[in-house]
Amino acid sequence: MANSKYEYVKKFERENYLLPDTYVVIRVDGKGFHKFSKFYNFDKPNDLKALEVMNTAAYNLMNQFGDIVMAYGDSDEYSFLLKRSSEVYQRREAKWVSLFASSFTAYYLMEFSKQFDLQSKMVPIFDARAVVYPNPQVVQDYFRWRQVDCHINNLYNTTFWKLVESGMTNQEAENRLIGTLSADKNELLFKMGINYNNEPEIFKKGTIFVREPREDKKRKQVVNKYHIDLIKDDFWHSREGLLQ
Ligand code: ATP
Ligand code: ATP
Ligand code: MG
Ligand code: MG
Repeated sequence: MANSKYEYVKKFERENYLLPDTYVVIRVDGKGFHKFSKFYNFDKPNDLKALEVMNTAAYNLMNQFGDIVMAYGDSDEYSFLLKRSSEVYQRREAKWVSLFASSFTAYYLMEFSKQFDLQSKMVPIFDARAVVYPNPQVVQDYFRWRQVDCHINNLYNTTFWKLVESGMTNQEAENRLIGTLSADKNELLFKMGINYNNEPEIFKKGTIFVREPREDKKRKQVVNKYHIDLIKDDFWHSREGLLQ
């Protein structure tokens, strides 16, 4: 930047550096996707095509930022775990958060416009935040928290929309579900001919991307996609490199 008498204004800028040697998770979430999904007529409760648009955006972002080691997404959100030792942009929070929100939005928009009839009055926008976690246990629990949330929402939404399909109004379906436990919802679904266990894994578990060594060529890294349980320890035990 050229020197000028105006340069003093730079002194007003403040920077937050995310703590070194910690696990950073950046979560992006769609702005007003309740409305967005209505506008574009998403299938309820789960539009598979829309989920795949999210997944493509996340995959592209992982290819752009080599320091992302893992990602988890469902609905209109995605969480990205960065390598503990990452020093990209000296760990400047504003850089990371704004780049994740804008890059994710750009990739989402590109893919979305291929799959849907994009209208300028309803464009997809994502916010982002970064959270710093001190140890592997909390990082694991963070991802467990998101997957449990996916499960709870999906069970609720699947039951809700099935009740509506069977003739209830939205209000009636909502009232019917007040105070119900998981077991009650499973049973309600069963009575309507649905075994929740047989619902697609991508709906029940969300999507996980992991950067890991390729099976055949251990020195090559690939980004693998899963729709599996990450709540049990198995997931983490078999991927100890993730939280180094
Ligand atoms: P950073 O990621 O740190 O912002 P940067 O490469 O974007 O790095 P900037 O300081 O933001 O660096 O500078 C933007 C650069 O983009 C300019 O130096 C110029 O080379 C180029 N640029 C931007 N707009 C135009 C334009 N309209 N025509 C030609 N070049 C442009
Ligand atoms: P905010 O701007 O505060 O995030 P929001 O309207 O995006 O508000 P969320 O809590 O993020 O609210 O919820 C996202 C909503 O988007 C879901 O409740 C659901 O209605 C809808 N949605 C997202 N993805 C899909 C999908 N693949 N299929 C159907 N609906 C979806
Ligand atoms: Mg949202
Ligand atoms: Mg959301």
